[in-house]
Amino acid sequence: MPASSPARHEGSRAGRRRWELRFGSIRGIPIRIHVTLLLFFVWISVTYWIAGLGPRGTITGVLLLALVFVTIVLHELTHALVAHRFGVRTRDILLLPIGGIASLERIPERPLQELAIALAGPAFNLGVALLLWAGLGIAGSDLALSTASRGEAFALQLMWINVALAVFNLIPAFPLDGGRALRALLSRAMGRERATAIAAGIGQGVAVLLGLVGLTYNPWLVLIAVFLWFAARSELAMVRLRAALAGVPASAAMLGRVDVVRADESLAIAAGLLVHHGGAAIPVVLNGATVAALTREDIAAGIDVAGPEAPVAAAPHHQVVTIAPTEPLDRVLDRLGSDAAIAVVVDHDVPIGLVTAEQLASYVALHPRA
Ligand code: ZN
Repeated sequence: MPASSPARHEGSRAGRRRWELRFGSIRGIPIRIHVTLLLFFVWISVTYWIAGLGPRGTITGVLLLALVFVTIVLHELTHALVAHRFGVRTRDILLLPIGGIASLERIPERPLQELAIALAGPAFNLGVALLLWAGLGIAGSDLALSTASRGEAFALQLMWINVALAVFNLIPAFPLDGGRALRALLSRAMGRERATAIAAGIGQGVAVLLGLVGLTYNPWLVLIAVFLWFAARSELAMVRLRAALAGVPASAAMLGRVDVVRADESLAIAAGLLVHHGGAAIPVVLNGATVAALTREDIAAGIDVAGPEAPVAAAPHHQVVTIAPTEPLDRVLDRLGSDAAIAVVVDHDVPIGLVTAEQLASYVALHPRA
């Protein structure tokens, strides 16, 4: 499933990242594996072993599971490739025991583009299933597991896994691919916010059903249901936030008083400015350009490691995006999502304000729409 939920708070994102291992990258898109997926593999191996599958059966089972996740990566990459065609970057692909998530930087502007991105993943799985089916047919298999040779059985299982992945993802329940396709189609008639509300409502309904089915049949489904429920809710919140911010200039929501430090000034100076004047962060300037920002945690960590007299360049820092005072906040929200949590509002090269995820949230809370 592709997901687009920008503007997570950097702190919580970094917190999450602690449980993710970078596995490599394909076409510049980092592939991350959640630690629980490794535990899942261990658990499955032990389960197979205890079930008496023997070394050979256990290895075959684990290999098949690994292949499922390779398939999931390729499914997510297909989303990413189609998104790339429409100018939407993919931040990363995360693998969890319950599947994969390609984090798109934003939802494409045109509903038909979102439709194409959403359907690309399941189409990939159906294509693979079709190829395996044709291959098995050419090899003379009767497609029955009971009479299949070891190699045929492997291909046959992989075929059905691909069919299952396509069918499951096509359930029209947000945030599954089918739900995204539904949202895209509804968006054409009623606008994205209402379309998302309907698709997310269906998604949460399906999640509850799936959870109930899981309670009687398979605890794994309960986990997937919980994930779907929260994902639907957070995406709806994000679309509402984006709609509330559409067209509002950055200057309306920025923290309007901002101190700056030079990269060669000491951490003690940065600490003093933050304590005396407050604020979320201090932009760091180098040769007249804003190059980074320091939060309280950054400064504390820098002092801890290098001491208060060390230059601010020695401290860990946050990436910044520089924006004009007139930049619409919905676009700022998209840009904040791309790993930088702090936007510095710059007027004629002079930093005049800060926009953070919290700042956007408080703007929306204090400016409710009619
Ligand atoms: Zn998908």
